[in-house]
Amino acid sequence: MAEPLIACQEVHYTYLRGTPMEAPALRGVSLQIARGECVAILGPTGSGKSTLIQHFNGLLRPTAGRVLVAGQDLWAPRADRRAARRLVGLVFQFPEYQLFAETVEQDVAFGPRNLGWAPEAVAEAVDEALRLVGLAPERFAGRSPFALSGGEMRRVALAGVLAMRPAVLVLDEPTAGLDGQGRHEIRRILRDVHRRGQTVVLVTHHMDDVAELAQRVVVLRDGTVALAGAVGEVFAREDALRQLGLDLPVAARVTRRLRALGVPVADALTLQDARRAIRTALRGTGRGDP
Ligand code: ADP
Repeated sequence: MAEPLIACQEVHYTYLRGTPMEAPALRGVSLQIARGECVAILGPTGSGKSTLIQHFNGLLRPTAGRVLVAGQDLWAPRADRRAARRLVGLVFQFPEYQLFAETVEQDVAFGPRNLGWAPEAVAEAVDEALRLVGLAPERFAGRSPFALSGGEMRRVALAGVLAMRPAVLVLDEPTAGLDGQGRHEIRRILRDVHRRGQTVVLVTHHMDDVAELAQRVVVLRDGTVALAGAVGEVFAREDALRQLGLDLPVAARVTRRLRALGVPVADALTLQDARRAIRTALRGTGRGDP
């Protein structure tokens, strides 16, 4: 394997260490994220997902263990954590709460300006990021972010991170609180970002996000890695997932239920695959469309 973009080696993290409220959140997490991957991080509430991803760009310092970004130990004596922060773009939960500027353009430009880019480069990055999130600059650049819908505000916040062109985009629950259409939009954007060659890491409770986007899954439980592997492998471990309080994607639930009812339908993870599998199965039974 080429040098991983992010590597965690036996990472431990304890909140409020040395106080009576001490709370161990990570207890020896090791994982690697390769360049160009899309990895989903799953696990029950409180399992350490948010704490883990804040280690990816040095927002949190491990109590023990190491975090390497592009081969550099983030906490080595002369580590360049600013450079690592440029490589790793972190999108927090409900990032729209952090919008603050008068116009969409100013909000999205904030990050690139802070990086010291020339005005033309900032303008180009803002334009590109707005297009990537499906907000045509001609229509949206001059508007107040606070006059937009919830889904649009989330996309502006996402554009603000994308505009800095991070090598890896790390998102905490990017589709939380959105309706079906909003979730669909965010998934489309993340798929496009990934197709452009950027690495994507997402924390999510939505198994359909995982099925639609991720190639690999890491499941946390009580601050340790409980399960990890390719998406198909992990979703094949239905009992283990249920014990962790995790469900299967809708498509897998439907196809497995049909099979239990005697319909010889192949397993599917995405709705598109489920549709195809059901059509094929019906054709086999002579009930499908020609
Ligand atoms: P997840 O993202 O999987 O829900 P978190 O990383 O938020 O999990 O939390 C992991 C553990 O750390 C939980 O037990 C949580 O209560 C604790 N924790 C998280 N943030 C803090 C904090 N700021 N102070 C103290 N404990 C915290």
